[in-house]
Amino acid sequence: MADIEVLDRNDPLAPLRALFELPQGKVYLDGNSLGPLPTAARSRVEAVVQQQWGRDLIASWNSHDWIGLPVATGEKIAPLLGAAPGQVVCCDSISVNLFKLLATALQLRPGRPVILSQQDNFPTDLYMTQGMAALLGEKRCVARAVPADALMDAMDDQVAVLMLTQVNFRDGSLHDIEAITRAAHERGILVLWDLAHSAGVLPLELDSWQVDMAVGCGYKFLNGGPGAPAFIYLAARHQDRVSQPLCGWLGHAEPFAFEPGYRPAQGVASFLSGTPGIIGMAALNAALDVFDGVDMKQLRAKSLALTELFMTGVRAEPACADCVVLTPEEDRRRGSQVSLAHPQAWGIARALIEAGVVVDFRAPDVVRFGFAPLYNSYRDVAEAVAQLARILAADEHLQPRFSARTRVT
Ligand SMILES: *Cc1c(COP(=O)(O)O)cnc(C)c1O
Repeated sequence: MADIEVLDRNDPLAPLRALFELPQGKVYLDGNSLGPLPTAARSRVEAVVQQQWGRDLIASWNSHDWIGLPVATGEKIAPLLGAAPGQVVCCDSISVNLFKLLATALQLRPGRPVILSQQDNFPTDLYMTQGMAALLGEKRCVARAVPADALMDAMDDQVAVLMLTQVNFRDGSLHDIEAITRAAHERGILVLWDLAHSAGVLPLELDSWQVDMAVGCGYKFLNGGPGAPAFIYLAARHQDRVSQPLCGWLGHAEPFAFEPGYRPAQGVASFLSGTPGIIGMAALNAALDVFDGVDMKQLRAKSLALTELFMTGVRAEPACADCVVLTPEEDRRRGSQVSLAHPQAWGIARALIEAGVVVDFRAPDVVRFGFAPLYNSYRDVAEAVAQLARILAADEHLQPRFSARTRVT
């Protein structure tokens, strides 16, 4: 393996690790599932609970601008997406936001009922589409999911919107947003990108790629905390032509006019529905400060170096011979995780966690190693490879204590 110490010493992003509260003695490789706690988020939550909620009470909606937090947090996320102001709002979960945007897309393409997606997309994306189809009936909405290599052929004149996830959650493969968006637009199809495993780790240019709509996750690479709210991006060019079906009072032009009839707020703020969870959103808002001054291209370069070092290390270890690397080797095809398939993947994941290397398992046979360039070091990679090889060489993963399944994997 390359000289790890030199790599860490020369890493311009290494100081950012100090902005996180990472437990001693652990190698945390699950930031693609739950980002660790930024110190800034801890202090903000304390302030929100003690001063804002505890002391200032309801006045805080105005005095601490709680009411403006969804838009303000959206504007803080926007630069990470390559989005000009006025197009991103923070709210709800990805699942709920998909529902709002899918309904919007169908409205924008009347006469085209199909929502096209990829068979191995993240299940909630497919489930929400199935729910939309059940609600609207087959004349108005058809859920179609095909294998990745059949997407181009499936883009016919019945398709209203192509809904894809840039980085596949299971194997870490990466779609070319710009090329696929262009191909869809040539066929009159809108695109809705799920950026769950992209926002905060990949350089994104949604405006210049002409993306129509996107959603993304607050609790993965944005480090906003468990259940942190998600976000919606809706390109400015569509905003005055659409309405969304979950039109709750906070998406109204004047919520405190308490009118009986709905009038949407201007712009993407009309995609808000109900009252936001302020404590969780404040944590995400503070966590985003970690990205101040960070060059996303530099972040991506380190992410690629970490994942490549890991794949090379695994391939070089005779003990890892039965691990199949599912993640593409080509840089432009790889997100920020490496997935290994192995028949005993569950036991391997449990043994790694016991050894202090925090990874996760995805059914049926995948161990995921998520690399977050904000806080993972090259030493973390070396330790992960070493522990994996040690466990496999000793057959430690076969020990009975690693066989019981947990509810969350
Ligand atoms: C994590 C993830 C989600 C999560 O959806 P929520 O509704 O926010 O829980 C959705 N899509 C993808 C691709 C994900 O990886």
